[in-house]
Amino acid sequence: MSTTASAPPQQGAPVITRFAPSPTGELHLGNARTALFNELLARRTAGRFLLRIEDTDSERSQDLHTRAQIADLRWLGIEWDAGPDREDGRGPYRQSERGALYARELAVLERAGAVYPCFCTPLELSLARRTQLAAGRPPRYAGTCRELSAAERARRLTAGVPATLRFRVPAGERIEFTDLVHGPQSFASDDIGDFVVRRADGTAAFFFSNAVDDAHMGVTLVLRGEDHLTNTPRQLLILTALGLAPPRYGHVALLVGADGAPLSKRHGAVSVREYRERGYLPEAILNHLFRLGHSTPLHGLLTLQEMARAFDPAHLGRSPARFDEQQLNTWQKEAVQRLAPAAARSWLGGVLPPGLDEESASAFTAALLPNVLLPEEARPWVEIVFGGLPQLEPAAAEVVRAAGPGYFSAAAAAAARAGSDLPTIAGAVRAATGRKGAELYMPLRVALTGRAHGPELAMLLKAMPAGKARERLARFA
Ligand code: GLU
Repeated sequence: MSTTASAPPQQGAPVITRFAPSPTGELHLGNARTALFNELLARRTAGRFLLRIEDTDSERSQDLHTRAQIADLRWLGIEWDAGPDREDGRGPYRQSERGALYARELAVLERAGAVYPCFCTPLELSLARRTQLAAGRPPRYAGTCRELSAAERARRLTAGVPATLRFRVPAGERIEFTDLVHGPQSFASDDIGDFVVRRADGTAAFFFSNAVDDAHMGVTLVLRGEDHLTNTPRQLLILTALGLAPPRYGHVALLVGADGAPLSKRHGAVSVREYRERGYLPEAILNHLFRLGHSTPLHGLLTLQEMARAFDPAHLGRSPARFDEQQLNTWQKEAVQRLAPAAARSWLGGVLPPGLDEESASAFTAALLPNVLLPEEARPWVEIVFGGLPQLEPAAAEVVRAAGPGYFSAAAAAAARAGSDLPTIAGAVRAATGRKGAELYMPLRVALTGRAHGPELAMLLKAMPAGKARERLARFA
C-alpha cells in the first residue's frame, strides 16, 4: 500500500491544516510551535486552519484546560478559521461531541470484519508485554482474541465481559508514505500489533478518532510532533479500511532543552502561561518558535503575516530543536523596544503604583523601557522613584559630599520653581557652580535616585511626584 505525495505544498495550492491539542494540561511551548507552524502552512497558501480539541479521554481531559489553552493561543495571536468556539458545519470541533460519527465509522469496520472485540484484561496485557520485553522482543498485542469463534465472542459479550475493539492489522503488507520532514517511510505491517480503536468504556481511541476526524474535516496536511511518526502507519491502515482520503503527514523534531533532553518541567518554564505571566511578549515567543526546527534567512522580529510569507516547509529540520531562553530574551528585547507607548504602559502596569497619574506613568515607562526585559526588573525603580527617600550607596554619598551644600541649594531652589524639568535644574546649578558634564549631572542623579547608574534621568525626574525631587535635593543643601 502506498499513499500521499511528497512535495511540500505549493504556495498556490490551499492546504487545510489543524492543531489538535489534548486538554490534559497547559499549552506547552512545543505545542504552541506546532500550532504556529500549522497556521503558517495554511496562511501561506490561503488555505484553512482548524482547531480540534481531542478530549475523548474523559479521565484526563478537563474543560478548564481547553479554555486555558484556547486563551493562550489567542494571546499568542494564533487564529483558527474553525474550532470549538467557531463552528462552521464541518464540526463539532470537540471530539467528545463526535461520538455518533465514530460509532458510524466503527460499525463500517465491524461490518467489514476489520476489527474484533478483545477481552484481554489490562493485567493480562501488561504481563504479556513484560514477557515480550524480557525476551528482547518489541511488545505488541499477541493476538489472543483475534481468532475467537463467533460463538465464543457472542457468549462473552452476552455475559457482559468488558471488551475493547481492536483493528485487525493485515499480514505481510508494507505501509509507505512520504513524510514532509523525514522523507520516504516504509513500515512492515507484521511489526504492528492489532491496536485498540474503541476503549472498553465505548469511547473512540486516539488512533481512530484522530485519523477519522482529519479525513472528515477535510484536513490535507497534518504537521505534528515526531512522537507521532510511528502512529501514522496505523492511521493510514484505518483510513484505507474506511475508504477515506488520507492527509499528507509531516513530523517535526521535538523541542529539547539546553541538555538535549526533551523540553520538560525539569528545564524550568515550559508552558506559554508561565512565559506570559513573567511578562514575555507574544511576538518574542512566536519569533523564537518560528526559528526552532525551521531555518529562515530572515533576521529581525517578524509579524505573523511576514512569518506566513517566509515559512518554508522545505526548511523544517530533522534534528531536535533547542529551546534557548537567551535567544528568547534577544527577541523579547526587540519586542519590548517596539511597544507603542500605551501598550508599554499596560505591559508595566502590574508593577506601577496603583492610581499613578497618566503623565508619571508615561514618563516612567519611557525611562525604563530601554533598560528592562521583563516588568519585574522595573520594580526596584518603582521603589526608587515613587517610594521613600533612597539610601545612598557609599560612592554616591561621596559624590554628594564633594558637590557640597551650595550645589544642592541651587538645585532645590530651581526644582521649587521649575518642578521636574531637568534642563532647568541643571542650568541653575551650572550657573551657580560652574560645573559641566558628569560633574554637573552626577550629584543630581545620586541625590535623586541613590545610585550612580540607571535609566535616563530626565525621564525619571519627570515621573517623580511633585515635591519629591525638591525634597531629595534639599536634604543636602
Ligand atoms: N491530541 C494529539 C496530541 O496532542 C494530537 C496529535 C496530532 O496532532 O495528530 O498529541
